[in-house]
Amino acid sequence: MRLEEVELVHVRLPLVRPFVTARGTTTHKDCVLVHVRTAGGSAGWGECVAEAAPTYAPEFVGGAWLVLRDHLVPRLLAGAPLSEVRGHHMAKAAIETALLDAELTTKGTSLATHLGATRDRVPAGVVVELGEDPAATAASALARAAEGYRRIKVKIAPGRDREHLAAVRAEIGRTVPLWADANGSYTLDDVEHLAALDVDLLEQPLRAGDLLDHARLTARLDVVVCLDESIDSVDSARLALHLRAADALCVKPGRLGGLRAAVAVHDACVEANVPVWCGGMLETGIGRAANLALAALDGFTLPADLSASRRYFAQDLTESFELDAAGCIAVPAAPGLGVAVDERLVRAFAVRTERLTGR
Ligand code: MG
Repeated sequence: MRLEEVELVHVRLPLVRPFVTARGTTTHKDCVLVHVRTAGGSAGWGECVAEAAPTYAPEFVGGAWLVLRDHLVPRLLAGAPLSEVRGHHMAKAAIETALLDAELTTKGTSLATHLGATRDRVPAGVVVELGEDPAATAASALARAAEGYRRIKVKIAPGRDREHLAAVRAEIGRTVPLWADANGSYTLDDVEHLAALDVDLLEQPLRAGDLLDHARLTARLDVVVCLDESIDSVDSARLALHLRAADALCVKPGRLGGLRAAVAVHDACVEANVPVWCGGMLETGIGRAANLALAALDGFTLPADLSASRRYFAQDLTESFELDAAGCIAVPAAPGLGVAVDERLVRAFAVRTERLTGR
C-alpha cells in the first residue's frame, strides 16, 4: 500500500455536558485525527486519544501533533520504521488504525473480523461524574442504570468516595455492577479504607507506575482490583500479570501503542485467566468504532467503557452509536472501521490542519 498523503486534523468538539474527574473538568473533546490516502485511491482514519493536557497520560494533543508532523508521518511516508521513535504510543496507534482502515476497506473486511471478534454487540458500561453531593451522584447513576447500561462506574478520590458510593448503591442495588475508578489517587496506607468500600471492582487505586504496591494491595483486598493507567505497554501488562498486581486489566489501544498491542494484551490475559475489558477515552465515533471492534473479542468478559455517542456529543464525526434494549452497542460490520466519517463536520470542528505528502 503506497501512501500518497497523510493529513493531520486537530478537532475540538463540544461535549454535551462537562466531564468532571479528580483531575478537573473538560468541556470540549480535543484530539488529533490522522487521515491517510493511498496511491490506489483508498483512505483511512485514525484517532489519537491523547488529551488536551498531560494529566492522565504523558502524551497530549500539542505534543502528539508535533511528533506526528515532524517525526512519525515523515518516517511513514519514507517507509522507515515508526519504532525509530521512542514511546508516543497514542500517536503511533492513530497511524496504525488509519492504515488498517484503508487496507481493510480495500479488502472488504471489517476491523472486527480482522481482529478476531466473535460477537456482534458488546455490553456497554458508563462513567458517572461525581455530583455536588452523594444524592446528586446517586441520581445520575440511577438515570444511567434506567437507560440500560450494564455497569456503573463512579470516579472517586480521597474524601469523595464512601458516601457517594453508598448513595449510588442504595439507588441501583445489586442488579447493576458498581465500579469505582480512583485514577491512582490512594496509597497503600489506605488499604483498610479501600477494603470498606462497597464496590464490585476497584480501578487503579494506586499510582500508575507502582505495580509492586498494587500486588501487595491485591493480595490484601477481597474486591476485584483492576489496573488501567498502569497498563501502558505489552511489557507492563505481562509484568502485572506475573506479579499478580491486579485481578483484572483494562485495555486501551491508544495507550498500548495500537490495536495489535491491545490484542496481544487480551491474549495474555486470556492465557492467564484474568478478566479484561476495553476502556474508553471519550473517543469520537472514529475511535469508538475501533474500540467496539476490539471489545468484540471473546476475552473481553467485563463491560466496556463504551457509551452511546449522545452521552458525550450532540454531533459526532460519524453516525452515532446507540444503546440497545439489552444495554449493548452494535459492532460495526462494514469494511474497515465500518463507519462513515462526516468530513464536513471534521472541517467544521477543525482547529488546524496539515497535509504531508511523500516525495
Ligand atoms: Mg480508569
